[in-house]
Amino acid sequence: MNSDKKKRWINSHYNVLEQPLTDSVEFHDLTLRDGEQHAGVVFRKDEKVEIARALAELGVHNIEVAMPIVSKEDRDAIKAIARLKLGPKLRAVCRARQEDIDYALDCGVDSVQVSVAATDQYLKTFGWSLDDVIEMVSTASKYAGDNGLEVTLAIMDVSRMQTERFLEIANRVDKSGHVDTITLMDTFGLISPHGVINMINKVQKECHIPFEAHFHNDFGLGTACTIAAIGLGVKHVQVSVNGLGERIGNTPLEEVVMALEVLYDYSTGLNLSKINQVSELVQKLSGVKMPSCKPIVGENLRVIESGLVATEYMTMLEKGEEWVKHVVPFMPTVIGKKEPEIVLGKLSGISNIEWNLSRLNLFVDEKHKDLHEKVQEKATEKHGLLTDQEFEEIVKNIVKQ
Ligand SMILES: [Zn+2]
Repeated sequence: MNSDKKKRWINSHYNVLEQPLTDSVEFHDLTLRDGEQHAGVVFRKDEKVEIARALAELGVHNIEVAMPIVSKEDRDAIKAIARLKLGPKLRAVCRARQEDIDYALDCGVDSVQVSVAATDQYLKTFGWSLDDVIEMVSTASKYAGDNGLEVTLAIMDVSRMQTERFLEIANRVDKSGHVDTITLMDTFGLISPHGVINMINKVQKECHIPFEAHFHNDFGLGTACTIAAIGLGVKHVQVSVNGLGERIGNTPLEEVVMALEVLYDYSTGLNLSKINQVSELVQKLSGVKMPSCKPIVGENLRVIESGLVATEYMTMLEKGEEWVKHVVPFMPTVIGKKEPEIVLGKLSGISNIEWNLSRLNLFVDEKHKDLHEKVQEKATEKHGLLTDQEFEEIVKNIVKQ
């Protein structure tokens, strides 16, 4: 680990790998497309532009903007973002139809996702044969490729499709159509990290097209599945800010980025200090707020209530051992949050009291034990942390005694 990183976070010695996890990862952001499929979320054109700007500042490599066929508002949003030339490549989602590809071309994107649904269930529902599907997808993808677009073939519901069918679709479309990458879409969030390893090991032997990982987070395993895919050489990962996406959502961008940086010592090249800002912007514009326990961007990352941890944190600060501030896995300032804060609650100790007395310029003579008891009583009574005002009130009463 380089010394700059050492100052900002520590790591477990068990995480050390004999070989680096990866040599390159491209982040493909889904917030504007799959993110908008999170029930109740609507991004207007200007909001899509604002999020795209923030994603470009964060440094993602690709942005999936919308499905152009859906509405004029979506097409206008794609065109507006394309005109800005923000840096990341833009992708539109298309059905396997020339009409959809024409819309994508008109909007000025760099690549398209051509979707393929071909499990037995899908074929039965739509009354198609496998040959019908392969022909439709080959024609549409070839048309896109001939017109200068990069094409990812998105094979839907991949975790429930027989391996033979997956390989037949991938290899036949590659031969008669145009395929740059294949997106492994676990549409219903059913694959486990071990399932990812089994699937990729199996299909990689007979399909040599690069894969993109698209996992949903229904079991909270999106990040683990994505890291598992990266470990097997997948270089394109599809993620969304705050994990916003269909149902429970997609693999959260901030989790994969920080896991790679901190736990795998891999430099993503992204502007980490923008992570919190982008997360807050997406929370504001989507209306989907993150709980305090959300990995990486949850507010409690920087809140210390436990007396034991507060004592450790304060002792380290007193000794000037800057880097040992780490009573958190990484300094919240790395992702653009404020420094850790010691608060007053039921589990607080004398250190929390001392910290807050000094922060609020209050003085109490030898009555810390009484104060501690009163703080605990108040926290229990109100079911939560004390505000500055409540603490000051307690201090005033103690001093009077
Ligand atoms: Zn999805």
